[in-house]
Amino acid sequence: MQGNTDTVRGLLAEAPRGDLRREAEILLGHLLGRDRGWLLAHDDEPVPPETAAAFRALHARRMAGEPVAYLTGRRGFWTLELCVTPDVLIPRPETERLVEQALACIPEDARWDVADLGTGSGAIALALASERPACRIVATDANPAALAVARTNAERHGIRNVAFLEGEWWQPLQGRHFHLVVSNPPYVADDDPHLARGDVRFEPRHALAAGEQGLDDLKVIISGAPAHLHPGGMLLLEHGYDQGEAVRRLLREAGFRDVETWQDLAGHERVSGGLWG
Ligand code: GLN
Repeated sequence: MQGNTDTVRGLLAEAPRGDLRREAEILLGHLLGRDRGWLLAHDDEPVPPETAAAFRALHARRMAGEPVAYLTGRRGFWTLELCVTPDVLIPRPETERLVEQALACIPEDARWDVADLGTGSGAIALALASERPACRIVATDANPAALAVARTNAERHGIRNVAFLEGEWWQPLQGRHFHLVVSNPPYVADDDPHLARGDVRFEPRHALAAGEQGLDDLKVIISGAPAHLHPGGMLLLEHGYDQGEAVRRLLREAGFRDVETWQDLAGHERVSGGLWG
């Protein structure tokens, strides 16, 4: 029977070379509870039949387009491994730019009140909370299923300084004021062809698309912010690569000062912010 036993190498060879092979390594590593280094060093290792079958099923789903993060239920963000489900957007590297910029503003021992609007998996709120344990962070989301994922992530990482509230944008925060508000809202234009391609097809559309120009939710967040920021408080927003000018204009029109934009690693304008009062 030895001849029929699948090995690590044999299973991986079923995936086409290139990105799909690398992704197959992630899928098999996930099922075996091993990292890529282990797989490559143990490629003769026999794989139990039920694991081989599970791998083939996941690999087939990947070949049909499903994102690797939804197949493994995991995605790394900042220093945290986060649970993800199709209820939440898969955290992206460009969003780490927003975290970086927020951390540059928050002094190490600050006891700030911080809000993350539309938290999804909790990525931004939990990254900030882990780096600034003295801050009190509120993370909101309109979708209870997303909040359940975010809460799971907080528990998994033992993060206690984030409170989760259900509701659209400012609605659950009435009467509350913050030193810093961050958000990665939906910002893709409704008719953007990018929504019909690749991994984003499997992500929640309401977390991606925001009206004709993709600015609908950014407008709601910016116009509501002055009522929720302490004097000198800051609003920091992720936006599309081509929305920097529009977002700066919206911020200035709403009365923000020191309005600035920062680029992501790809050199695109990605994060804009300003100070209130
Ligand atoms: N950057 C994401 C994308 O283009 C969009 C994320 C968002 O809308 N907040 O897929």
